[in-house]
Amino acid sequence: MLSLDIPQATANPELTRKTSILVVEDEDLIREMIVLALREQGYDVMTAADGRTALGLIQGNDATAETPFDTIVLDLMLPQVNGLDICRLLRYQGNTVPILILSAKASETDRVLGLEVGADDYLTKPFSMRELVARCRALLRRQRFTTLPQAPVLQFRDITLSPEECRVTVRGEEAALSPKEFRLLELFMSYPKRVWSREHLIDQVWGPDFLGDTKTVDVHIRWLREKLEEDPSKPKYIVTVRGFGYRFG
Ligand code: CA
Repeated sequence: MLSLDIPQATANPELTRKTSILVVEDEDLIREMIVLALREQGYDVMTAADGRTALGLIQGNDATAETPFDTIVLDLMLPQVNGLDICRLLRYQGNTVPILILSAKASETDRVLGLEVGADDYLTKPFSMRELVARCRALLRRQRFTTLPQAPVLQFRDITLSPEECRVTVRGEEAALSPKEFRLLELFMSYPKRVWSREHLIDQVWGPDFLGDTKTVDVHIRWLREKLEEDPSKPKYIVTVRGFGYRFG
């Protein structure tokens, strides 16, 4: 058996980049225990013992800047600014950083209130450090999925195209498009009013290696018109521009 002198990878998979957690808790003992538990997992941990300090750390000098933290562990009862107000304020400002609320109150109304002001999860004291770590990890994982860049939904008059869902609705009804028709429409809707030559459309939709001729474009346009236009013989969406090609809108 080969014995290679390579250190075992013990790194937490979340740590492919530096993951930073802010712990906001005024009770020293609890705060220190949380910090220890999270640092043990390899996270970069910062702390605040009151609401004002927490907001300063989260927002820095610029409330519109991106938060330097990947997750915030937030106690509810805090000096100066309480956890619910912090949560409400951050969400109001459009900050989507995952927030795990800690609370000594176990009643359902507090839980609901915490989630209503935009917290992502809720842990009632006393809790185990193992559970806290697990919840933080889940929030970090979720955060990574939600921060995937989302292609915006395209809308033009009564046509809606969702690139993520590969769905098109026309006047509220779902339209069944082939992949090429979909791609063609997506391109048109991304650049309304722009005039495209048939060659340009082939390049964009079929790719430069396409061997067919430009009649293929005309055929697909006809099919697309049948699915989009109220009267395909008098198209209002995909308009022929004589001598040049096609225009959307
Ligand atoms: Ca407290």
